[in-house]
Amino acid sequence: MSQRHPQPQSTTTEAPSIGVADRYRLLVEQSLAGMYVIEGDRFVYCNERFAQMFGYSVGEILHGLTPLMLVHESTRDVVSESLRRRLEGETLSDHYNFRGQRKGGERIDIETLGTRAVIDGKSLVIGTVLDVTERRRADEAIRESEERYALAAEGATDGLWDWDVRAGTIYFSPRWRAQIGLAISDAPERDPKRWLLRVHHDDRDRLNSALKLHLSARTPHFECEYRALHEDGTYRWMLARGQAVRDERGLATRLAGSQTDITERKLSEEKLAHDALHDALTGLPNRSLFMDRLSQAMAFQRRRADSRYACVFLDLDRFKAINESLGHVVGDRLISSVGQRLIASVRPGDTVARLGGDEFCVLFEEYANDAEPLKLVEKLQRALLPAHKIDGTELFSQASAGIALGNARYSRPEEIVRDAEIAMYRAKDEGRGGVAVFQESMHAVAQARLQMETDLRRALERGELRLAYQPVVSLGTGRIVGCEALCNWEHPQRGNIPPAEFIPIAEETGLIVPIGAWALREACSAAAALSKQSAHELTVAVNLSARQFEPELIDHVRAALAESGLPAHQLQLEITESLLMEHAGPAAPILAQLKNENVHLLLDDFGTGYSSLGYLHDFRFDALKIDRSFVARAGMGNRAELVNVIVSLARTLSMDVIAEGVETAKQAAQLQALGCQFAQGFYFSRAITAEAFAQMVREDRVFSWR
Ligand code: C2E
Ligand code: CA
Ligand code: CA
Repeated sequence: MSQRHPQPQSTTTEAPSIGVADRYRLLVEQSLAGMYVIEGDRFVYCNERFAQMFGYSVGEILHGLTPLMLVHESTRDVVSESLRRRLEGETLSDHYNFRGQRKGGERIDIETLGTRAVIDGKSLVIGTVLDVTERRRADEAIRESEERYALAAEGATDGLWDWDVRAGTIYFSPRWRAQIGLAISDAPERDPKRWLLRVHHDDRDRLNSALKLHLSARTPHFECEYRALHEDGTYRWMLARGQAVRDERGLATRLAGSQTDITERKLSEEKLAHDALHDALTGLPNRSLFMDRLSQAMAFQRRRADSRYACVFLDLDRFKAINESLGHVVGDRLISSVGQRLIASVRPGDTVARLGGDEFCVLFEEYANDAEPLKLVEKLQRALLPAHKIDGTELFSQASAGIALGNARYSRPEEIVRDAEIAMYRAKDEGRGGVAVFQESMHAVAQARLQMETDLRRALERGELRLAYQPVVSLGTGRIVGCEALCNWEHPQRGNIPPAEFIPIAEETGLIVPIGAWALREACSAAAALSKQSAHELTVAVNLSARQFEPELIDHVRAALAESGLPAHQLQLEITESLLMEHAGPAAPILAQLKNENVHLLLDDFGTGYSSLGYLHDFRFDALKIDRSFVARAGMGNRAELVNVIVSLARTLSMDVIAEGVETAKQAAQLQALGCQFAQGFYFSRAITAEAFAQMVREDRVFSWR
């Protein structure tokens, strides 16, 4: 294992003669190198360092150890041959490495420079030794790693690069070159600057600073992700990692490492990041991204008071009906078509987001004056009107919108979205497809509504709800044939609240389900009690809301009938025409079951909803209730015509006709003349308490209008 070095000092023929001055002795004793003098096969001198290196004391070495005893057997021949040649004068000096052996048998690597000297006629070898074990190990490690590196360079999927910092050249492995689409045959690129030129402009500074930090030893490794231009013109995401080799002053002489194509990982990371902030169905920003953009607009307004922004809340009208009747797939397509129309109608800087369901939000920024958002919203609403072609059918969309203008009072994005939503509800209250701009006063309204909602939750258990009964009169006999049960709320502070005010809230909150079940029981037991006091059967009509059309409705009806003992055919259930239009799909099986229970079905508010005549037949309604808007104008020309048509239609389908809202004798007479069999309205009686109605029934009141 010895290595011969070129002999540096073989030019002189004269052996040096050594004078042993004290100061030299000091120097020798302090030396980092081990020093020795050999005569024949023994040591005549060695310094402390030399003895330490081999694990002996100076004394042990000088008395009894031969030079070869310090040499491991693997290199003993080499050492003894070298010693012999110098002692015999064949060579003057020899610089070589051998493997030493310490006192305990441990091996060390030694580099030595020994020179022949003749002092006082004695032939000596004097020399120095260095323990190079550590250096040797490091060299071996480097060689091993270089071998591994070379192997890796051939087979790895990673590209390798090796930059000679001092020479200013760079080596790229074939794999590296393939990563950016260079053919093996292309002339190898050696200029590091060309590498940087391939790097995407936006990533260059980052890469440069990562390189600088590592070259100046401020980072333990070099690592950077960047986009590199592929020969095909696209950019690929790469991860480069490397480490510098430094000289004794710590200056980087070489920087080598790998390059991994991480395009796929990057793309999936980007997709994850995109998905987290976007709605999957429409691809529009989602609520969190929208809130973020709103926060930015708010922050911007805080810095620049003259900047403007507005939040728009859009809610599709009757979307639920489409979803329920045509299915979610069609509903989803409509939503994404709406999303496209919205995004196509805003200006490039504005944000359109889908908050969920059929709710969209738009952020308008930097417009000229406060009238502009209204114009923009109207433009959006117009864009939604043309038919959407979905699965070959034409669907129509319309949205109600609320606008909240950004101002300094808003500190969180949620606040302005809430206000835009309140304004949207106001717009909805005033009819579909409308728009309203938020005003502070709407807060009070919204608050009152919230208060009512809270109160309504307790109204039922506190017995604050009452049913009032409005008599239904036969236009043939003038006698009472039954009644319609109408719900009222006796609010402890606000007094009587009419159903038009609280039923919509009950429907929205779902409270209509327990309230409806209660109304059924209450009405049935009142009607059963009345029937006992009356000479003939009396019917009772109960109104139903869309939210009640769940299978449990059948149970509620059965329970109400069973508890009261009221025969099923005396119970009439009123379903409005609009309910039927919007929820025909889900309501159909329940209506059929109700029919099987033998209860009667009445189509309420007929004439207001343009329902398909087919429905009348399909659902086997027992009677139509002509809406009071027709009755009020029954005396006027074509309205009378219409009532006439309705009556004959009903007759064809063997349905009865009940006129609502009859307020005058004249109206009653006209309706009678038009063939309408029944009527109710203020002319006969308002809705009254159960006792008052019972009194009327007992009296067997006969109404007249002639
Ligand atoms: P509706 O079913 O159309 O009830 C008839 C409404 O017309 C009642 O209003 C009644 O008081 C009113 N009315 C009756 N005769 C006349 C008249 O001659 N002239 C005028 N101008 N109005 C007349 P009310 O009691 O305010 O009820 C409003 C609506 O609330 C009802 O309309 C019904 O849709 C709903 N509703 C009432 N009670 C219930 C209930 O228990 N459950 C459900 N789901 N809805 C209910
Ligand atoms: Ca009704
Ligand atoms: Ca009605």
